[in-house]
Amino acid sequence: MPCSNHRAPLLALLGFWAVLALATVVEAAEPRQPNIVFIFSDDHAYQAISAYDSKVNKTPNIDRLAREGMRFDRCIVPNSICGPSRATVLTGKYSHSNGFYNNTNNRFDGTQMTFPKLLQKAGYQTAMIGKWHLVSNPTGFDYWEILPGQGQYYNPPMIRNGQRVKHPGYVTDIITDLTLDWLKKRDPKKPFLVMCQHKAPHREWEPNTKYLHHFDGVKFPEPPTLFDDYAGRGKAEHTQDMTIAKTMTQRDLKLVAPAALTPEQRKEWDAYYNPLNEAFRKANLTGKDLIRWKYQRYMHDYLACIASVDESVGRVLDYLKAEGLEKDTIVVYSADQGFYLGEHGWFDKRWIFEESLRTPLLVRWPGVVKPGSVNKDLVSNLDFAPTFLEAVGLKTPAEIQGRSLVPILKGNTPADWRKSFYYHYYEYPGPHSVRRHYGVVTDRYKLVYFYEPDMNYRELFDLKTDPRELHSVYGDKQYAEIQKDLEKELARLRSELKVPEKDPPETIIKPRKPGN
Ligand code: CA
Repeated sequence: MPCSNHRAPLLALLGFWAVLALATVVEAAEPRQPNIVFIFSDDHAYQAISAYDSKVNKTPNIDRLAREGMRFDRCIVPNSICGPSRATVLTGKYSHSNGFYNNTNNRFDGTQMTFPKLLQKAGYQTAMIGKWHLVSNPTGFDYWEILPGQGQYYNPPMIRNGQRVKHPGYVTDIITDLTLDWLKKRDPKKPFLVMCQHKAPHREWEPNTKYLHHFDGVKFPEPPTLFDDYAGRGKAEHTQDMTIAKTMTQRDLKLVAPAALTPEQRKEWDAYYNPLNEAFRKANLTGKDLIRWKYQRYMHDYLACIASVDESVGRVLDYLKAEGLEKDTIVVYSADQGFYLGEHGWFDKRWIFEESLRTPLLVRWPGVVKPGSVNKDLVSNLDFAPTFLEAVGLKTPAEIQGRSLVPILKGNTPADWRKSFYYHYYEYPGPHSVRRHYGVVTDRYKLVYFYEPDMNYRELFDLKTDPRELHSVYGDKQYAEIQKDLEKELARLRSELKVPEKDPPETIIKPRKPGN
C-alpha cells in the first residue's frame, strides 16, 4: 500500500463517491428489468370475476388489475385441465411438446426449458409458492414451497425446498403470507419473479370460515342452461360425468365436513352448515328443486373461496404499492383454465367449449399497458412464457410454441397475429369421463372432433348465432364452405405444431388416484 495511514480515510471517501456516481450513471443508462408477480388460481372461472361482468360475484381487488391494466377476453388454453395447463405456462408449449398430457399418470420433466429457469440464469430471484401439481419437484426456483398434489384447504402440509412443513390455518392466507414473506426477505437490488399459485377455488370448494356468511341473503341467478338436455350434440356430451345433478358428492355439497379441520375450525364450520343442512334434509327435495339447491350451495362455497383469493390479490397489490414497487412490476392474474358454474348443468372443465376453454387474464404493467384496456385477440397461456422473456429482455427459444404478448400489451396487435387455435384434450378414461377430442377455434367458429373409435364424430359451432354452443351445425349445407375451411385449417395446425398422428403411449391412462 503506497499511501500513508492518514490519507487512507480521504481516499476511501473519494472512492465511495466515485462508486456512487458510477452507480447513478449505470442506473440512468440501463432501464430496470421489471419484476414479475404471477398470481395464478385453480379453476377460477371468468364468470366469477366482476371485471368480466360476473352475474354472481364481486372481486374488487382482482378488478383493480383490469382497471389499471389490460383485460383479455379470449385467453384460451390448449388442454383445459390443471397439470397440463401449468406445464404449458412454464414451457410455452403444447402438451404433446412438453410431455405433460394428463393429471393421472404424467410427471413433469423438470430438466426441460422453462421460463423461470431462463430468468434465474439471467440474474432474477425466482420463487414458486403454492399449488404446483406437476408431480416432480420444481426446478428453476431459488425458493419453492408447494402443496403436495392437490393440497388441502385447512392446515395444509407443504414442501419447502424438499422439506415437509405444516402450516396451521387456511391455505389461501398461508400462500399469501409465504409470498409476502419471501418478497420482504428478497435482495432488493435484484429483479424478481414470484409465482403465487393458489389451490382455491378448486374442488371441494372449502371456504375460509370467516367468509361463510359473506353471501348471506343472496340467491345466485341460475345460468339459462342449468337443465341442458344435450340435444343437438353428440354422445360425448351425453355420457360425461360432471353434472351438478348426479356427480356432486356429499363432501362437495358440505353435507360432510372436511376431515382436516381443527376442533375450533370445526365448531365455526358446523355453526354455519349444520342448521342449513338440517333444513335441507327436512325439505326432502327432489328433481329440479334438488338441483337448484345444489347449485346454490355450490355457488356459495365456490365464490366464498374466491373471496379469499380476491383478498390475497389485494394484500399483494398493497404491498407492492407500500414498497414503491408498483411502477417496476408486472402483475398478472390468471387461472389454469376456465370452469363451469352450472352452464350445461356442469361443474369442472376439460371441454373445448367456451367456459372451460377460456381463462381469465389480467395484466398490469405501468407505463406499458394502457389502464382499463380490453383485448379480444386469440391469446393463450402458451404466450405467457415468451411474454415474460421479452419483457425482461431475453431471447425466446425457437422451441416455444406461444408468442409474446408484449406488442399487444403495448396496444399494437401484430398484423400476422393468430386467427385460429389448436385444442387437444387427452384425459380419458379419467375423472368426469370427458372423451378425448381435438379441434380448431377461431373468433367465430369451433370445429371439434371426438376421435376415439366408439365416438368418432365431429361438431361445428357458430358462436355468433349460438353463443352457448347448443346446436352443432356440422353437415349443415349452409356451413359447407366454412366447414371445409376449418377442416383444412385443423389439418394445417396439426401439421405445423407436429401433433402426433396417434396419441402417444404417455397418454394411456393407468389409473392411479383421481385428481384434477
Ligand atoms: Ca385447474
